[in-house]
Amino acid sequence: MPFKENYKEDQCPQLGQPGRKISENVSSKSKASASADSTTDHPIYTPEHFALKESLNKIIEQEINPYVDQWEKAGQFPAHKIFKILGNAGFLGVTKPIEYGGLGLDFSYSVAVSEELGNIRCGGVPMAVGVQTDMATPALARFGSPELKKEFLVPTILGDKVCCLGVSEVGAGSDVASIMTKAVRKGDEFVINGGKMWTTSGGQADWMCLLANTSDGPPHKNKSLICLPMNLPGIHIARKINKIGMWSSDTVEVFFDDVRVPCKNIIGQEGMGFTYQMLQFQEERLWGVANILTMMDNVIRDTIQYTRQRKIFKQPVLYHQSVHFRLAELETELELLRSLLYRATALYIKGNDVTKLASMAKLKGGRLAREVGDSCLQYWGGMGYTSEVLVSRFYRDARLMSIGAGADEVMLSIICKYMDTLPRK
Ligand SMILES: Cc1cc2nc3c(=O)[nH]c(=O)nc-3n(C[C@H](O)[C@H](O)[C@H](O)COP(=O)(O)OP(=O)(O)OC[C@H]3O[C@@H](n4cnc5c(N)ncnc54)[C@H](O)[C@@H]3O)c2cc1C
Repeated sequence: MPFKENYKEDQCPQLGQPGRKISENVSSKSKASASADSTTDHPIYTPEHFALKESLNKIIEQEINPYVDQWEKAGQFPAHKIFKILGNAGFLGVTKPIEYGGLGLDFSYSVAVSEELGNIRCGGVPMAVGVQTDMATPALARFGSPELKKEFLVPTILGDKVCCLGVSEVGAGSDVASIMTKAVRKGDEFVINGGKMWTTSGGQADWMCLLANTSDGPPHKNKSLICLPMNLPGIHIARKINKIGMWSSDTVEVFFDDVRVPCKNIIGQEGMGFTYQMLQFQEERLWGVANILTMMDNVIRDTIQYTRQRKIFKQPVLYHQSVHFRLAELETELELLRSLLYRATALYIKGNDVTKLASMAKLKGGRLAREVGDSCLQYWGGMGYTSEVLVSRFYRDARLMSIGAGADEVMLSIICKYMDTLPRK
């Protein structure tokens, strides 16, 4: 087995009394192999992928799902506690180099882990894990100096440090090139001024992977990524943002006021930050698709279970043809998306550029999640309109898929670029 030893219950501290409302609505059976594929005949997974999923599933069922309702109410999950548990078991460094504490596996294992994280009964916790493993750290792992990796990457993989990603700003989200935060070199330090918006885990993070303008050059060549400890003077968490979903995950706005950080904290080459950020988009997007696929699976499964026992007009809701036909349509689309994900992943691990396929999968994932959430919620009737059931949480949480990490329209633009259909300048 290539990963760290299987998770054992007694490795983890108890986190307090569980509140099990939404979690109780589904069977507790392991969903590690929830997809239609068997463990021996899968397009991209080997028995080792399935063993990894199984091991992660135990952590999810024992250490995460029983507490999700509590964290949703609190508007935050205990990132340090949960990341330590995941880090101890190796799940925060699946694709990271072995010499820095990672498992050194290929990206298909990251897809497997993301799929399994989709069994968490909310979107906020998996999103924060994804930021830690596949959004804030890939550039550091690829291009960071050995000293920087030792200081920031190793503890992040171990779960001793929580990290966040500082790209989006109040005035720049889709248009990353127009960020305004500046890092001006003064001697052997950068002095940082500006601010970041929508920072996932920003209220709990020990460090930020910050994208800032380090020169006045052209927008694609003037940006750098910097490892920024979050306890430095001049860093102010302005506010925690109230959101329609993803409640377990804290999202903050942060300001930088003459924050001084050593120039050695720059990741890779100065001026390459934008390029590094773009390079990891294929992985980020496939990761997001894998995650939401499992969530959609679970919502459909829950809906079948509920509508089978809920009777209207003397028969189960499910037996009305419009209901079971619609669920069959959604399931079909889900399988199409799953095939695209596995194909893109298989090509990617062989070294191909899958930007077009990853963008298509992200676009479809966002749109399908909206359809699944809306249709399934409808079949729960008034119950679907309460916050007591998974389907309503999914309806709220999954809406982000079409906005975050590249909105649907950004995906369409990328696909058009590959189709050579954009208007010529
Ligand atoms: C809960 C949450 C967590 C987040 N976490 C992080 C994080 O940890 N780190 C981080 O850096 N960012 C984070 N983000 C930011 C996220 O990536 C941005 O919200 C996203 O990139 C969109 O940017 P924006 O909100 O500024 O929207 P805008 O850029 O203002 O776009 C608005 C809308 O314009 C449309 N649009 C965009 N491009 C085009 C186009 N080419 N043609 C036509 N229409 C278009 C889209 O419909 C888009 O939704 C998070 C956001 C949320 C809501």
